[in-house]
Amino acid sequence: MISVEEALEKVLSYVEVLEPERKPILDCLGQVLAEDVYSNIDIPPLDNSAMDGYAVRAEDTRGASESSPSCLSVVGELAAGSLPTKRVRPGTAIRIMTGAPLPEGADAVVRFEDTDEVDRKLSRGDLSQIGILCPAKKGLNIRCRGEDIAKGALILKQGKLLRPSEIGVLASLGCSTALVIRRPVVAILSTGDELVGLDHPLAPGKIHDSNTYIIAAEISRYGGIPRILGIGRDSVQSLTEKIEEGLSADMLITSGGVSKGDYDMVKDVLAKRGEIGFWTVRMKPGKPVAFGIMKMMERGREKKVPHLGLPGNPVSSMITFEQFARPAILKMMGKEVLAKPAIQAIIEDDVVNSDGRRLFARVVVTKRGGQYHASLTGPQGSGILTSMAKANGLAIIPENSRGVKAGEKVEVQMLDWVEE
Ligand code: AMP
Ligand code: MG
Repeated sequence: MISVEEALEKVLSYVEVLEPERKPILDCLGQVLAEDVYSNIDIPPLDNSAMDGYAVRAEDTRGASESSPSCLSVVGELAAGSLPTKRVRPGTAIRIMTGAPLPEGADAVVRFEDTDEVDRKLSRGDLSQIGILCPAKKGLNIRCRGEDIAKGALILKQGKLLRPSEIGVLASLGCSTALVIRRPVVAILSTGDELVGLDHPLAPGKIHDSNTYIIAAEISRYGGIPRILGIGRDSVQSLTEKIEEGLSADMLITSGGVSKGDYDMVKDVLAKRGEIGFWTVRMKPGKPVAFGIMKMMERGREKKVPHLGLPGNPVSSMITFEQFARPAILKMMGKEVLAKPAIQAIIEDDVVNSDGRRLFARVVVTKRGGQYHASLTGPQGSGILTSMAKANGLAIIPENSRGVKAGEKVEVQMLDWVEE
């Protein structure tokens, strides 16, 4: 049986970074940039004011104080978006708003709070003059042309993940589209004669197909595009037909039919249509998890589609999805960080690891007194899906450990952050 790391390495060795596509920037959130973006403008485009106040010559404010203000003549007013028509000559000032271009002659902006403007307004005083209440240094409250982005500079590098801040930078450059690695289409097939769709009444012995929805939601969450194929029955013919439909996708994920039961046929179809990479991994839950390559002909050429066969138990399918499908999707999207964030926590329950597999225990992580604590969500059966709904992390008990006692430290792979 191979280890989780060996299995992951195998999966990743079979998935490729996908090709780029050009899209409107708002559709690119969470995708990876596939081009270097240079600026053909300066941002800001001109020296401008960082405050609402008065544009002045610093030397005219030398020695100014509340008791002895420097009195300057106000020769104009400038709003953001307009261009100066006057210069600031010795002994004068221009009233200026944040973002307005700095008029010639001025080398500092004194904010309203450091002038006597309010007093003049209250006492209906002379607003053609302004008293500056403290000395201004050259450059005070001035944003220089190109200080954020200089014309010609490399601003966003290929490989950068586009978050709202990068989308904002692209917008400030005037780019309405970006070239990004496309999202993978991932086909999902649930298998089992016991499964029924959600709107159907449950006949005796039948259960709702929850895996399709879990897996589709996970795919969307990590940036892929789910394509639901429906439910495959436990016969080679039904599975083969359904799997054929999924082969135009970038990856196929099935659930169920990979353990050792009489009706577990996904492996057989995989063996016939492709190559099996592995079909058991030293982990719990999730030992029966298959991976291989399905082969098909597309426009006269052989296409290879990675196929991950997750176990049917919903908890096992979620945990194996996290370990293998998520990194595969992220790699296809061109992302570099594939691992979930992990922390060290104090475990609050005894956990026994009986059979030398890597145990993923569902836990709730909380932070108390600057320390993370992890407590089991309750019964850990792999059919108990509500244990996943309660958990925000997976405590990892290594394969060579017999378990941990309450109070010991464990590594926890975070599914969601505590604050979320
Ligand atoms: P299998 O891996 O096909 O042997 O299935 C293992 C267990 O998971 C069985 O109890 C199945 O009924 C259950 N199961 C399989 N597929 C699904 C599914 N799509 N939704 C909910 N439970 C499932
Ligand atoms: Mg089954």
